[in-house]
Amino acid sequence: MKKIEHIGIAVKDISVSNELFAKLFGEKYYKVEEVESEGVKTSFFKVGHNKIELLEATKEDSPIAKFIDRKGEGIHHIAFDVEDIEEEIARLKQEGFTVLNETPKKGADNKLVAFLHPKTTNGVLIELCQEITNKK
Ligand code: ZN
Repeated sequence: MKKIEHIGIAVKDISVSNELFAKLFGEKYYKVEEVESEGVKTSFFKVGHNKIELLEATKEDSPIAKFIDRKGEGIHHIAFDVEDIEEEIARLKQEGFTVLNETPKKGADNKLVAFLHPKTTNGVLIELCQEITNKK
């Protein structure tokens, strides 16, 4: 893994949180995107070299809605930038981690993504992401 790509925060109302985080960071988000297949609306903020993603559920049965029901708003996942997502998935499976989607899917922000089950990572949902333009 190369670096933390972004940290994802689950929020109930993204328009309210967009204002809040813009105040916090002193800068507006640089991108908003809806990922229909995941039932989420996202926004991305840059903080120096780092990125923060806000996620709001657009469907009652989306993973974000379930997360907020269970735990409330807060940090939802940590995403790591990887060079080759398929290779990394294979390596992590070998190491005994449970990969939630073994075939990478298209996530927000022009990335191929895969998630590791928090049960195998001390309760932390880990997202692997590979920039789509880097795809071999
Ligand atoms: Zn993410």
